[in-house]
Parts: sequence; structure tokens; C-alpha cells
Amino acid sequence: MHHGVARPAEIKEACGVCGGWAEGSPIAYLTCFALYALQHRGQESAGIAVARGGETGSGIWLRRDSGLVAEVFPDLGELRNRPGSLAVGHVRYGYGREGKDPENAQPLLLRYRHGELAVAHNGHLLNGAALREELEEQGAIFQTGTDSELLAHLIARQGDAAVEEALAAVAPRLQGAFAFILTDGRKVVGLRDRHGFRPLSLAALGDSGFYLASETCAFDAIGAGFIREVVPGEMVILDDAGLRSRQVLERAGTSLCLFEYIYFARPDSNLQGRNVHLARRELGRRLAREHPADADIVTGVPDSSIAAASGFAEQAGLPYEMALVKNRYIGRTFIQPTRRMREEGVDLKLNAVQKIVEGKRVVIVDDSIVRGTTSLKLVRMMRRAGAREVHLRISSPPVIASCYYGIDTPDSRELLASSRTPAEIAGFLHADSIGYLSLAGTIKAVGLPEAQLCRACFTGRYPVACGGHHA
Ligand code: SF4
Repeated sequence: MHHGVARPAEIKEACGVCGGWAEGSPIAYLTCFALYALQHRGQESAGIAVARGGETGSGIWLRRDSGLVAEVFPDLGELRNRPGSLAVGHVRYGYGREGKDPENAQPLLLRYRHGELAVAHNGHLLNGAALREELEEQGAIFQTGTDSELLAHLIARQGDAAVEEALAAVAPRLQGAFAFILTDGRKVVGLRDRHGFRPLSLAALGDSGFYLASETCAFDAIGAGFIREVVPGEMVILDDAGLRSRQVLERAGTSLCLFEYIYFARPDSNLQGRNVHLARRELGRRLAREHPADADIVTGVPDSSIAAASGFAEQAGLPYEMALVKNRYIGRTFIQPTRRMREEGVDLKLNAVQKIVEGKRVVIVDDSIVRGTTSLKLVRMMRRAGAREVHLRISSPPVIASCYYGIDTPDSRELLASSRTPAEIAGFLHADSIGYLSLAGTIKAVGLPEAQLCRACFTGRYPVACGGHHA
């Protein structure tokens, strides 16, 4: 599990959202716990917007800042006592143009002629730049680089005072991948893109409340009972009248990000009915069948590859060993190692256990290779600890194309597999062998029809045209 500490990954999550309505419950406090459960999806900033709800609205209280949930909300007692029936929460991974600017922390709060709006999102609008330009030409002034602010401006420009009507009217203009949760202080509204790239689920909270979150692990953290996933293109409205739903965008199937199963989501979450941990173990089993290795031990890269490594070991009949240990307390601190440290394969976040790997033929299972910098370090580290052979096994196919749907992947030229064969990659990484799970094997392990998953970064074929630029 990620537990809020970034693993030395090269692909990063792009945000977690949550929010709901529950009369008589400490909704701000609960939302903080939901954010703790979603922390692995973003560690750059956290924020919560709270309001009393009801027809008149009452002003939205907001706190957002750079840092982990625990840093932004050190005083849980204050949240416990904060009055409110509704809340919206967000954790952010600083992404592309949005960078690491604390101004881009969400939810964003905007005032307009009909009142206030607090908006949070996960994803990426493909036509964000064009929409922004259009609004700027009409005189809009943007304070942040976020798609949330863009959406708030679009809503504010609608004549309708009812936020759900305004959102329904602008929704068809939004292209790309998104899960928005917003509030006008009276109700909470959630909207998922028509392809369902980014996850969003719905749960019951307390006697008559409802809650939305990117992952079901957030529901477990607050005692909410999973009901179903928000349907692609669906808008859900939560307020004192309960739950309402409107299909505001024509559903275009489901293209949930395959990487959610491979790496992003927490192992205790379920997506489209599949448990993430079990899917990862099956990825490992299939990997062992497709690419067996003549080896002595199997180890996984903590934390996201441990389930796949245990499946690999089980299938291969090899012992699973904890040959890589992670330092959980490095967190987001960026410490530049010296050149000599780097060359010798020293890493502050991971260490190889010499007594386990010395003289052994080791299989390292990792979930993915992007630029290859992490894998290069891993192989060096294993050799330095005395491994006789190092065999890399990857529980997903080669990443050959960039993501345009809200996941921060580098330009395709920087992707190790975009221009190299697996044999060339093994040579580049100084590994004795390498084996990637096939796309068919990956999809079978997840256990869903291929058409229900986005797999564009493995195929280069995109479900929605992306214009060729990674904004
Ligand atoms: Fe996920 Fe890859 Fe699709 Fe992006 S392109 S949404 S990372 S499967």
C-alpha cells in the first residue's frame, strides 16, 4: 500500500476527490479521514470545503494548502466541531502546467453573481487550453492553472442560478477525462466524463446521507456503504432531498484507466467490482506463466508490486522474499544523492537486503517501466548487494505512449519502450533478462472486457483524439 508516502515511481497519480452530504454527521471531520485514505493519489496539496447546506446556503468554509493531509489539517478537533452538512475534499498531485504552486491547491473557491462555488477535480480536460483562451478573450481573469477554475468560470457564465442546471449546460463542452465534485454551499454535485477514464463511486453515509469518492477505500475509512459507481456521463446531486441522478452526457462505454489496477489504486479498493489487490496477484501469476525465470527467489518493489510478486512466486513455486525494503519516512523530501552514490546504486527510499540476495538469482517484479531510471537503480542495487543474476518481470505491457487523460507520463520519446525491444531494454538496464506481461494477459488478470478499460499508453490508440500535445 502507498500509505501516503510516494514510492520512487515514474508515473504519478493525478489527484483524489471526495465529498458528500450527511445531516447531523461531522462531515468535515469525515472528509478529512476520506482524504487520508486517498492520500496515495496525491501528496502535493490537500483541501476541504464545508457548508451548512439548505436552500439559502450559508457561505463556504475552505482550507487548502500545500502538503500532506496531516500537515494541512493538524487539528482534527477543529474539523470535528465545524458545523456543516456537506463537504468537498481533494488531494492533488502537481501536474504539468499546474506545477507545485500552492495557489493550485483544491477545492477552489470562487464568488460569482449567484453566490459561491467550491470545485475539485481529478483528470485532465483535453480542450482546456482552447476553453481558457475563449474565456480570456471574453474578459475572464484566471488565478490558477486548474481545470477546476475553468469549470467554475463556465458555470458562472451560465444565466441559471441553479448550479446543477448550469453544470448540465456546460458539461457537453468538456472534453477529456474528469471526475468533478463541486458545491454551491447548498448541495454537492458530482460529474464523471462520458468515457469514465477516472474512477468515481457512490456510497450511503449515515441514516440519509450520501458520499462520493475516487476510490472505495475512502468509504471504508468513514463507515460509508458502497452503492455503485457513478456512470460515465452521469451527474449526481446530493442534498437534503437525498440523491438525484441525471445522465447529462451521452455515455461512451467505460474506459477506466487500466493503470488504476496496475499501480494507482489502493489494494483495498474495488473498481468495477474487481478488488485491486486480487487483480494484482493475478497479474503476477500470469506473468510467471508467460515469462518464467530460472531463479532462486522472487521479490517485489514496495509497495505496489508486492501483490504481483507474491502471485508470481506462488505460480512459479519459488520463495517470495522481502529483498527490498522501503524507507517510509523519506516522504516527499527531495534529497539529491552524490554522483558516486547514484553510480553505486544507493537509494534513500529503497534498500536491498544483502543477506537475502547474496549469491542468488533474483526475480524483481515491478508494476511498470516508464523512463527506466527506477529499474536501472534497482538492478544496480541488487548487484551491489551480491545478487548473481537479476531478472526483471513487469506486471504490465511496455508503456509506449503518453497519457492525455490526467496521468503524468513523460513525452513518448522519453519512454524507454517507445523505441526499444525488450531485449534492448534488458541490455540498457543491465538485467539478465526481462519479461513484460502481455496486454491480453493484463486484461484477463483484471477480469473485465477489454472495451471497459483505457489501455492507450500501452497501444498508442486513444479512445478520444488528443491533438498530439500533452498539455
Ligand atoms: Fe490510464 Fe494509460 Fe489510459 Fe492514461 S492512457 S488513462 S495512464 S490507461
